[in-house]
Amino acid sequence: MSEIIQIKVGKMDNFLYIISARASFVVIDPSWGFEKIKEYSLKTSKKLSAVLLTHGHFDHSNDIDKLAKEYGVDIYMSNEDSEFVDLKYDFKSLSDVKELNIDGIRIKVLSTPGHTPGSVCYLYENNIFTGDTLFCKACGRVDLPKSDPEEMRKSLLKLSSLSNDTVVWPGHDYNGFKTTIGEEKENNIFLKTASFRDEFLSIVL
Ligand SMILES: [Zn+2]
Repeated sequence: MSEIIQIKVGKMDNFLYIISARASFVVIDPSWGFEKIKEYSLKTSKKLSAVLLTHGHFDHSNDIDKLAKEYGVDIYMSNEDSEFVDLKYDFKSLSDVKELNIDGIRIKVLSTPGHTPGSVCYLYENNIFTGDTLFCKACGRVDLPKSDPEEMRKSLLKLSSLSNDTVVWPGHDYNGFKTTIGEEKENNIFLKTASFRDEFLSIVL
């Protein structure tokens, strides 16, 4: 029996996520959550078995060094985004990885560039962790260095193809903390216009 835990951390309304299995757990985007993660591990006596990054921006990755040092845990991220991260330890590359199996927690890796060149979303059962690609009624910024609006458009189309009841867990608490692909297809102007290149590009920038 697995469980998803959402914890808000830091001053930028980031969410860190814990996917918890029987004896171990995986963290997505630790952000500034080192103490929270430690607390969870102590309270449950579960082992932290991996840290996954949706992308390399500091507000998602801030505590990875502390976690690598304290737990000797594997940090997974895309090669393309490693340049954003000043990691003192080795990381595991997600290049060409379609699915991870971490202590029996099976997570699909969807490449969703746009916000950053190496942004990914993680699909676990009926849940998608979207980092800064998709938020409630919004998508991530594409006016940053290395962002690409056209790639974002294609990535949003990819997310649109998931089943409507897929639960969306965004990387920040903007406009809400949880949604579904179906709700976003109805209410999110960026998803609604993703099929129309010119219209999308005119509103996303
Ligand atoms: Zn970001």
